[in-house]
Amino acid sequence: MEIQFYGGARDVTGTMHVLTVRGKKILLDCGLYQGRREEARNRNRNFPFDPAGIDAMVLSHAHIDHSGNIPQLAKLGFTGNIFCTHATRDLCGIMLQDSGHIQEMDAEFLNKKRARTGQPPVTPIYTARDAMRAMNQFVSSGYLRPVPVADGVTATFYDAGHILGSAITALDIEENGKTLRLVFSGDLGRPNMPILSDPAVLDHADIVFTESTYGGRLHDDYVTVNDKLAKIVNDTFARGGKIIVPAFSVGRTQEIVYALHQLTLEGQIPELPIFVDSPLSVNATQIFRMHPECYDEETRELLLQTRDVFGFGKLRYIENVEESKKLVRLKKPCIIISASGMCEAGRILHHLRNNIEDERNTILVVGFMAENTLGRRLVEGIPEIRIFGEEYRLAAQVVKLNAFSAHADHDELLSWISNFDAERLRNIYILHGEFAQSEALANGLSSVGYSQVAIPERGEFVEVQV
Ligand SMILES: [Zn+2]
Ligand SMILES: [Zn+2]
Repeated sequence: MEIQFYGGARDVTGTMHVLTVRGKKILLDCGLYQGRREEARNRNRNFPFDPAGIDAMVLSHAHIDHSGNIPQLAKLGFTGNIFCTHATRDLCGIMLQDSGHIQEMDAEFLNKKRARTGQPPVTPIYTARDAMRAMNQFVSSGYLRPVPVADGVTATFYDAGHILGSAITALDIEENGKTLRLVFSGDLGRPNMPILSDPAVLDHADIVFTESTYGGRLHDDYVTVNDKLAKIVNDTFARGGKIIVPAFSVGRTQEIVYALHQLTLEGQIPELPIFVDSPLSVNATQIFRMHPECYDEETRELLLQTRDVFGFGKLRYIENVEESKKLVRLKKPCIIISASGMCEAGRILHHLRNNIEDERNTILVVGFMAENTLGRRLVEGIPEIRIFGEEYRLAAQVVKLNAFSAHADHDELLSWISNFDAERLRNIYILHGEFAQSEALANGLSSVGYSQVAIPERGEFVEVQV
């Protein structure tokens, strides 16, 4: 049996690993690689293996860096089943289509540039239609229900508490009367986060593959986040200002809505108009409503009490553009949650443009802002911000809430791994992290006594004896 790492190794995007058991090939995740445009297009367009030669696929969760290249995989000849949880399948139903639209717009933009220099046009890597077609290959299951994925290989999903439907995958492999258990953390969430259950504790594995996005960092504790959020809302309300929240449509938006719902019920914030202004958020929230099996106890309790976790008071979901435009004319204090999360595109840009120059307003940053994004420039407090080609003076307050991370930090990763029976655990492979983060986790693991720890590179093979 062997495993080869093709992406998400010493890197956080484009996760893709191939497990070969008795000649059968199982693909673990099929993420879109995100990076410099030209390199990304090449990597996403061409697979380092023959897609038609893959027998089955196991998908950890719906984030695009894990699922985003499935339409292309199917387009190039993969006809097998894609095993994942129910919520992951449903989220992929909207997220892959959205990604297809983005690929189409990206090609259109590139082609305008290419036409000017007389270069031939490019085609999108895949289209929204390709994404729709690939959905037919999904086979979904609940958590803790072992599913046969290939001859002698059974997959069991455990809740990873990272986004709705996210899974830690255990693969039990039978060979010569012996069973070997490989555990893939997928992206691992954090304890005490809103809505989702805490990451499941697993106690035995022969080999563990762990993510390490924040392998070298410590996050703020989530427990105090509601108090901080309440203070931000109340301070802005007292100034007569608006709160603009750039947030990813899937996950962060629902967490903020949930936190605001709790604060409203507890009377800690006034009943303000709240708008969720992003078509993808509206659809994603519908899917959150359909999957109470992914909720933690507290959220189930709230559901029983209020019947709708994601709807309350003056909260409105905005779908059409006309309604979105009306928000601009609104003068009273309110909260607007909109995408994209890093302020690179989407309706958030209109809200920023209209509110950034008023010092009564607050721009609330609740997610990671990558380098070279508009979101990062806001966090850095750059005095003049360019939006749609025009300069705007940054007068609104920019406030960061760090506790909303969906990834376990250094201590949380160590504590999750230390639950495995140390006598049985042979090897740990560290994936899904920039090298410094993976190395910090490796050092942490060796300081608590783990000796067989490796950080594989892209393209590296590992052979495993059952
Ligand atoms: Zn993820
Ligand atoms: Zn990821």
